[in-house]
Amino acid sequence: MDTKILADLLFPNVTKTPADLDAEFPPRSLPEGAIVSRMAPSPTGFVHLGNLVQGITSERMCHQSGGTLFLRVEDTDAKREVPGAVQVLIESLKHYSIHFDEGATIDGDAGNYGPYRQRQRAHLYHVYAKQLVLQGEAYPCFCTEEELSDIHAKQEAEKANYGYFGKWAVWRDRPLEDIKAALDAGKPWVLRYRSTGSIENKIKFTDLIKGNLELTENDIDHVLLKSDGIPTYHFAHAVDDHLMHTTHVVRGDEWLPTLPFHLQLFRALGFKPPKYLHIGPLMKMDGESKRKLSKRKDPELALTYYRAAGFPVQSVYEYLMTVLNSNFEDWRRANPDAPVDSFKFSYKKMNPAGSLFDAAKLRDVSKNVISRMDVDTVYAEVLDFAKDFDIDLYDHLTADESYAKSILAIGRGGKKPRKDFAVMADVKPYLDFFYDDWFTVTDAYPEGFAKEDIKAALQGFVATYDPADDSGVWFDKIKAVADGLGFASDMKAYKENPSAFKGSVADVSMFLRVAVTGRLNSPDMYSVMQILGRDRVFARINAMIETL
Ligand code: GLU
Repeated sequence: MDTKILADLLFPNVTKTPADLDAEFPPRSLPEGAIVSRMAPSPTGFVHLGNLVQGITSERMCHQSGGTLFLRVEDTDAKREVPGAVQVLIESLKHYSIHFDEGATIDGDAGNYGPYRQRQRAHLYHVYAKQLVLQGEAYPCFCTEEELSDIHAKQEAEKANYGYFGKWAVWRDRPLEDIKAALDAGKPWVLRYRSTGSIENKIKFTDLIKGNLELTENDIDHVLLKSDGIPTYHFAHAVDDHLMHTTHVVRGDEWLPTLPFHLQLFRALGFKPPKYLHIGPLMKMDGESKRKLSKRKDPELALTYYRAAGFPVQSVYEYLMTVLNSNFEDWRRANPDAPVDSFKFSYKKMNPAGSLFDAAKLRDVSKNVISRMDVDTVYAEVLDFAKDFDIDLYDHLTADESYAKSILAIGRGGKKPRKDFAVMADVKPYLDFFYDDWFTVTDAYPEGFAKEDIKAALQGFVATYDPADDSGVWFDKIKAVADGLGFASDMKAYKENPSAFKGSVADVSMFLRVAVTGRLNSPDMYSVMQILGRDRVFARINAMIETL
């Protein structure tokens, strides 16, 4: 067949050549070794942890090497697109500190290698589509949906492999007249790749995460352009990553089975393939066994989950770092205050089989991250959470900023900061007793203490408390109250012979704690009393005495 005639028939308006496009999108001028990569998500409205894992990996590789990261919106599947999804996508990635040097933005495209939304690139794909037809490596297929399902049914009956290939590829070798007739009749067509591969053959391939692989060659005549002229993922991937000069493709390993086809395309198009990093899935323990995180079953797969739960961005980020690079935790321990960017990320440390998502570990990491924040940062984080998810908390904390900050400052700083919060939703139950309208006594005194003793301890404290005392003097006074009531002030003496005492100074402190905070556990009582002030401390203690 004269492929020139066919190419002109199919793409009469395409006048540019691949060489023209190479001139339009010249190589980037970047230093030696600079990595160019991209995030190429589909705007489905669902941004998930896997996106973030991929984004962080690409981002670190690009920016650590002085390269470029761009955002390409893969919107070729119009059916799956949700209105507003591109905006959600861009905002979520920005929220999680994935900084792009170029690509799709809320206000359009930024950069010299666009457009960065695939549906706007149809004219570019068509140049290469025409080229493949010219080379005899692509052909139109006019099969209807019914004809395709018919083929599928026959394959099923014959126990043959599924797909459009070999004898099933009914348009592969049709004469030009048939094609012309179908075109004249206005039949819709797709463009298919003419594969010369065989499933008898294996290709060898080195993935930067998975290592050396052997994959079965592709023998399917996959679709390159759909009937609306929009490419499939595969074709767009080859064309875009060539024209945008991507050096490394980081993507989920669900793409590994189609990699042989992608490599065929790169070869057919005369492109140098990028290096690939196929990331294993995020998994979780389900009973005794591991399974992939699923959109349907696991709310924690969605990024929105973390914001609503009140995880600071930095917590999620650092948690994912611990998942991605096994040495991150040690590094963090050795460099507790270093900016996270100064960690040397390496894709070589990534687990080829995928990583286990561990919710308890995430909380742990988050506690550490939050404990290292200064009070202004925590305050800003709580407000950011509360303004959307707990307006009552927001109102309380903003009513008197310095009061709120003095609470949040308790136990902050120093070598061993307190680790009270894993999420911002932990803040309210931690500090609600500081606000009179929220204060209630939720915990009862444990059994085994005489009411008279509790009462006497509370009264003894009130008799000598002076807010001007430093914490040493303050505690000495509590010890004196303890001694006076037959509670040991010396913990060592108490432990040696507990039956000689009614209890210890720890119990006396607990009497005060329950009266003042309403519960058995609270932050440091000295600080609590300093912040509440004498009048409120006394009012609460006296109210408690009334009930005894
Ligand atoms: N649009 C593809 C996806 O969302 C991108 C894969 C890739 O990065 O090439 O899975």
